[in-house]
Amino acid sequence: MDGPTTPVDRRRLLALIGASSAVALAGCAGGGDDGDGSPPTDTPTPSDVVPEEYRTAASLNDRQRDPDALSAKSDVNYQDEPDDGQQCSGCAYYIPDRNGDGVGACSIVEGNIEPSGYCVSYAAHEEGTSTDGDSTGDGEPSLAPADVPGDAECAVCGMTVANFPEWNAQTVHEDDTREFFCTAGCATTYYAVTDQFADTDAAIAGLWVRDFDSRELVDGTSASYALETDSDRVDDPMRLNPAPFATREDAVAYVEAVAHLTVEDIVELSAFDRDLAEQYRGRLIE
Ligand code: SF4
Repeated sequence: MDGPTTPVDRRRLLALIGASSAVALAGCAGGGDDGDGSPPTDTPTPSDVVPEEYRTAASLNDRQRDPDALSAKSDVNYQDEPDDGQQCSGCAYYIPDRNGDGVGACSIVEGNIEPSGYCVSYAAHEEGTSTDGDSTGDGEPSLAPADVPGDAECAVCGMTVANFPEWNAQTVHEDDTREFFCTAGCATTYYAVTDQFADTDAAIAGLWVRDFDSRELVDGTSASYALETDSDRVDDPMRLNPAPFATREDAVAYVEAVAHLTVEDIVELSAFDRDLAEQYRGRLIE
């Protein structure tokens, strides 16, 4: 295989997307390998070409890029512009520029990634936060959400949490034990039946879930949860989850938009007990 694209080449490639033929761009990029580890094709998409040093590089949250397990840009609504102040350079999955051309890559999305870009899988990277969540390094719990480690398994169902960037949740105990979850349903089940799932006796010190509307991590201890009961209404992991909202107003708007829920179906985290946990994860509760 020819060497990686030079910085100038890559900038030019990005600028030329849509203006030149795919075949011509493949030639500029160095021949028959598309740079992403996939089999050579005659007409690779220009935006799929990343220099060799990015193929299996680690992102800001230490998640290693797997060239065979990347989302297509179109699937995550990638754009080259920021969204409401959020951009790739501040995302946990961003792989910063490694060759001086100002363009980086991403550990979960294909192709070259502009630092000013954005997609719906955005997850804010907190500077200095390690992947195990102990940002203080002193054993004290960090009362802030941490980046999801690439190999973290949901503490309730065992699924790989990083595969669900729009749905995942997490908690931290007072002894700094941090657990991650695929969804709010698993997080609230863990909260309700902690004895079954936790590896520690320390109390829960913080819990974060993804706001149903914004998909941002919000404080799960003050969130309002709409107790969704229709497993076919939302295309979410594990099929059925309570819908968390940062504000009660948003939860009210949610239940008012569906016929089968009322404001009586809005609860706080403290309402989650074994009965509610069984409603969402009954088959996983002993
Ligand atoms: S915003 Fe999307 S494309 Fe950009 S680094 Fe994050 S996950 Fe990757």
